[in-house]
Amino acid sequence: AKDNGRNTYHIYSQAVHRDLAKKLEMVKQLRHAVEQEALEVYYQPKVELLGHRITGLEALVRWVKDDGTVIGPDQFIPIAEDTGLIIPLSEYVMRTACNQLKRWHEMGFNDLTMAINISGKQLHLPDLVDTIVDNVSEARLSPKCIELELTEQVFIENIQSHTNFMHSVREHGMSLAIDDFGVGYSSLSYLKNFPVTSLKIDRSFVRDLPDNEDDAVIVQTIINLAKNLNIQLVAEGIETSEQVEFLLSRDCGIGQGYLFSRPVPADEITQLLQNYHGL
Ligand code: C2E
Ligand code: CA
Ligand code: CA
Ligand code: CA
Repeated sequence: AKDNGRNTYHIYSQAVHRDLAKKLEMVKQLRHAVEQEALEVYYQPKVELLGHRITGLEALVRWVKDDGTVIGPDQFIPIAEDTGLIIPLSEYVMRTACNQLKRWHEMGFNDLTMAINISGKQLHLPDLVDTIVDNVSEARLSPKCIELELTEQVFIENIQSHTNFMHSVREHGMSLAIDDFGVGYSSLSYLKNFPVTSLKIDRSFVRDLPDNEDDAVIVQTIINLAKNLNIQLVAEGIETSEQVEFLLSRDCGIGQGYLFSRPVPADEITQLLQNYHGL
């Protein structure tokens, strides 16, 4: 029995070792990908639910491996956050997305806005707003067409430096969205206390619309809240026309989701824009 136990321990420690080795290898590869800028930025349109006009894009990063496989951010953003790679990664995304938006403006789509996801880890950088503003002005864009998306967690933490960041973002004329709204089970009072310009209803509430009555009530409540506070509302994860109908009937006018487009490379967005606007 004793030998058996030792054996089990031995096998277990090998497994732990393998996991660790795998993780370290992934960190090494990710570091390399960030340095070589082997990351790609995909874009998902934000559309008017009535008429499907594209009003803006959200930048969503992808890691394209040497063999062409595309890895989604859920698989590497947490590692990037743990290792500090999130900082150069985010700067790359910011620069790429701003330059791309400028190109679309120059093609005549000059009302388009760009939403960029900001990690809570980035908020610890004291000069984050300056870095963002520099990127925006280097791309010769107005800050008015830039929206920063922060997840609800950042608002719940309610740290003074975060609040300062948000006010500074607004003072520069950029917009500020709360991402994944509704998943945090938190008090809604922070909506009053933070200079938020839009709310993105998390897709978990949209998924089972219109049939799920609980979700219908939650979404209705969020819509009323946004109206009363004069905050723009975006529904995420729209996949069916029944969801669109429900949202439109409740007066939520803007959304994102696979029904309109998955996140795609810039060229495909250009085609969507050209097909729709006929420029
Ligand atoms: P998010 O900001 O909530 O982005 C929306 C996610 O929902 C995207 O996943 C998008 O592909 C997916 N999605 C959009 N429409 C639909 C739909 O109709 N159905 C379903 N099932 N999914 C839909 P993605 O691209 O895998 O990104 C995952 C998360 O990774 C993002 O969630 C965001 O939190 C993070 N992320 C992505 N890019 C960046 C980045 O550049 N910086 C940071 N800090 N985080 C990023
Ligand atoms: Ca987002
Ligand atoms: Ca979201
Ligand atoms: Ca999310």
